Amino acid sequence: MVCVYCGEKTRVINSRPQIRSNQIWRRRSCKSCQAIFSTIESHDPAQTWLVKRPDEPAIGFIKEKLFLSIYESLKHRSNALYDAKHITQTVINSLGRTTKDGIIESSSITNTVIVSLNRFDKVASTHYRAFHGIRSS
Ligand SMILES: [Zn+2]
Repeated sequence: MVCVYCGEKTRVINSRPQIRSNQIWRRRSCKSCQAIFSTIESHDPAQTWLVKRPDEPAIGFIKEKLFLSIYESLKHRSNALYDAKHITQTVINSLGRTTKDGIIESSSITNTVIVSLNRFDKVASTHYRAFHGIRSS
């Protein structure tokens, strides 16, 4: 990866696996301007997953769409952006463990979000279900 400031070559000076999030964190140093910055390598579901809705062609997974739907449900919280970011990642990790072929039913995404929100904030879970037209059971 080139330097984010000057575009010259960089070298990795530290690297750590992040077991829980299944990512690799790297500290990089620029050989030209000596800037130091961090990168995170992680699976990009947008490149590999397709979302299937009944009677519709499958479309590529859009992480931002998932994030926004979760964020909308968490707006009553003071840290809604931060919480939505982490719950989005939790949902993606969970979906990754259950899909084998990269094709995911949209209902499976909805259910996974509800399970995650239920554990975190019951009000958010209720908001989410109402928005998606799903009755509380
Ligand atoms: Zn540089």
